[in-house]
Amino acid sequence: MRKPIIAGNWKMNETPSQAVALINEIKPLVADAKCEVVVCPPFVCLPAAKDALKGSNIKLGAQNMHWEEKGAYTGEISAPMLKEIGVEYVIIGHSERRQYFAETDQTVNNKVLAAFTHDLTPIVCVGETLEQREAGQTETLVRNQIKEALEGLVTDAVRQVVIAYEPIWAIGTGRNASPEDANDVIKIIRDTVAGMFGQDVAEAVRIQYGGSVNAKNAADLLAMSDIDGALVGGASLKAEDFAIIVKAY
Ligand code: PEP
Repeated sequence: MRKPIIAGNWKMNETPSQAVALINEIKPLVADAKCEVVVCPPFVCLPAAKDALKGSNIKLGAQNMHWEEKGAYTGEISAPMLKEIGVEYVIIGHSERRQYFAETDQTVNNKVLAAFTHDLTPIVCVGETLEQREAGQTETLVRNQIKEALEGLVTDAVRQVVIAYEPIWAIGTGRNASPEDANDVIKIIRDTVAGMFGQDVAEAVRIQYGGSVNAKNAADLLAMSDIDGALVGGASLKAEDFAIIVKAY
């Protein structure tokens, strides 16, 4: 059985004190969650967030990291830095990183490998643009993104990986994929993992849907057979909405 996972991607929102206040709002609302709950605040909020999360069932994630351990990479943050302050998850290859910061399938793969080297669990984001969807390219694109992202991983690592299917046209637009469409692409992703690492590994991998998930549409999306949770942007900044999404399980 795959344990569903709901993760909040706070993006570039909240100062450290605001992050603590938001966590303190969320904590009691999700204390009896049946799924795994993760929040991913900005880097500078992580130490304060870790403190605020003590004794709760919420885990801490980062939104990005560099693949090298250290060195001359001004402005970057490495996996050992995240690990030392108690981060457990890290979002890799979010479409905003691919779009605005030139991340590629190759850099995503470098980061995924580095995350496992340092005992962090990557949440690997894949998904198509509207043009690609309309051109019928979703399956080919997503299969390629998965193949490149997971290249070189050992099967024990793949079992741990979390994948987020996030159609770019659905992120921050208020227009979510239909539960059926999201489930279909997630099945394709699982089939791709099965082709690379075997069916039993694919059955263990958790695959989230992300893209305009909110308090109203969460239950229908999360009820689908292959959707194992959600990566939530905007709605994760509102404690009550985030809690409703978590409690859809
Ligand atoms: C995201 O940023 O990963 C995301 C899914 O955003 P939103 O929920 O706001 O569409």
